[in-house]
Amino acid sequence: MSAPDGRRHVVIVGGGFAGLGCARELADHDGVRVTLIDRNNYHQFQPLLYQVATSLLAPTDIAHSLREVFADQDNVDVKLAEISSIDTRTKTVTSSDGEEWTADALVVAAGSQPNFFKTPGADENSFPLYSLDHATRLRSRILGLFEQVDRDPKLIDRGALNFVIVGGGPTGVEVAGAIADMINVTVPAEYRGLDVGAAHIYLLDYGDALLKPFSDKAHAYVAKVLTERNVELRLGTGVKEVGTGHATLSDGTAVPTRCVIWGGGIMAAPVAANCGLAQGRGGRVDVNPDLTLPGSDGVYVVGDIANIPGPDKHPLPQLGSVALQSGEAAAKNILAEFEGKPRKDFDYKDKGIMAMIGRNAAIAEMGKGHHEVHGQLAHAAWLGVHMTLMTGTRDKIDAIVDWCWDRFSKTGGPHVLDRGDAAEIDWEDDPAVTSPPAAASPPDAVQPSQAAR
Ligand SMILES: Cc1cc2nc3c(=O)[nH]c(=O)nc-3n(C[C@H](O)[C@H](O)[C@H](O)COP(=O)(O)OP(=O)(O)OC[C@H]3O[C@@H](n4cnc5c(N)ncnc54)[C@H](O)[C@@H]3O)c2cc1C
Repeated sequence: MSAPDGRRHVVIVGGGFAGLGCARELADHDGVRVTLIDRNNYHQFQPLLYQVATSLLAPTDIAHSLREVFADQDNVDVKLAEISSIDTRTKTVTSSDGEEWTADALVVAAGSQPNFFKTPGADENSFPLYSLDHATRLRSRILGLFEQVDRDPKLIDRGALNFVIVGGGPTGVEVAGAIADMINVTVPAEYRGLDVGAAHIYLLDYGDALLKPFSDKAHAYVAKVLTERNVELRLGTGVKEVGTGHATLSDGTAVPTRCVIWGGGIMAAPVAANCGLAQGRGGRVDVNPDLTLPGSDGVYVVGDIANIPGPDKHPLPQLGSVALQSGEAAAKNILAEFEGKPRKDFDYKDKGIMAMIGRNAAIAEMGKGHHEVHGQLAHAAWLGVHMTLMTGTRDKIDAIVDWCWDRFSKTGGPHVLDRGDAAEIDWEDDPAVTSPPAAASPPDAVQPSQAAR
């Protein structure tokens, strides 16, 4: 509600790219006060989660305190709370512990969550990569496996060095490349005598190419780089079931593994369903071209949680740049509304797409014409863009130091096993892999010795 001083109140749910973009645009505006609510007290830079998971960057390089971001903006108040219900009619949000905030304009920017497509066991047994918590959990699992194999190499026969990555989009490709770099470069330098030749990285995708939105030439480049780095590509293949100690692929192959990484897809954050917002494709909330919720005055839905129509009426992709720009555009429309001016349709400025494949290997389509570059140049462009997008100066400096260290050394990086829960493995809990391999494995099981490298 408007404050006693007459200022209009904007409530933003979610401090990701979209929420941050919106709050920054409204910061320092006389006549407006902002309440930014997030269930975490930090903004997380999702595109670099895989670098935390693979010990390239520290969690603090990619997570930034929201209070610090807005320390100099008196009109932005940050609240740590999980929103469990939204009343779009009264523009009131309620937290799981019962506190309410009522707004003159409400912005829902709650992002997405992993979509396991009802794959049996995937939710319980795989490692998604969509939050800082996921990234530190996965890092501890990966390091935990190396530590355990270092002490007991026989665990390799139970799949301890088999990594199954589901999804050949940017998340799957980037994490596959980074694990390959670990196995080819860092692990041999730090774990003396560990048989890295016995490691297998499987990258699965139901489609016929990796990084589908890129060109055919790019598809060939990505496949070549990953194959050269010993990533085993399984195109036209998905995962049917994930057990505690194995993954069953869609072709019936059973791979013994203790590390299935889920990059298989996303759906709207639970708040969309929990709060009864009308959901379209991927559970995302359909919005008008000006980012408002149909039929609800003063309610905006932005970023990954929204189905934002693009120029061809198809929804825009779930990208950081779309989220950031839509958050900023919602803020401009809110200010226009407060001043009695008309709202404008969201006009996404597409500056290109890029993905990192591993050390010195990246791919980028830049500018309006999506001019494509590969290799070192794309790597440099990737570094530049991510550096610009990162939130705080200290984060940027820390990340540059870590990246330089990684570029010129074989060891180092924050190889910290700090999540004992994720590293702990009961090797006896999966009958598919605890029996002697030759006798008890299904006939089509992939054993480390059989699998192609
Ligand atoms: C691994 C990975 C790699 C990616 N790589 C790239 C890339 O290279 N380039 C690119 O452009 N994009 C990339 N993306 C996509 C990009 O990160 C997203 O499009 C972007 O983060 C979406 O921003 P958002 O603000 O909509 O949502 P998010 O960034 O997910 O933020 C949502 C926020 O809402 C909060 N929240 C959710 N529910 C609640 C609730 N009920 N109550 C309170 N707070 C809540 C969350 O804590 C979070 O802070 C990647 C994504 C992932 C996961």
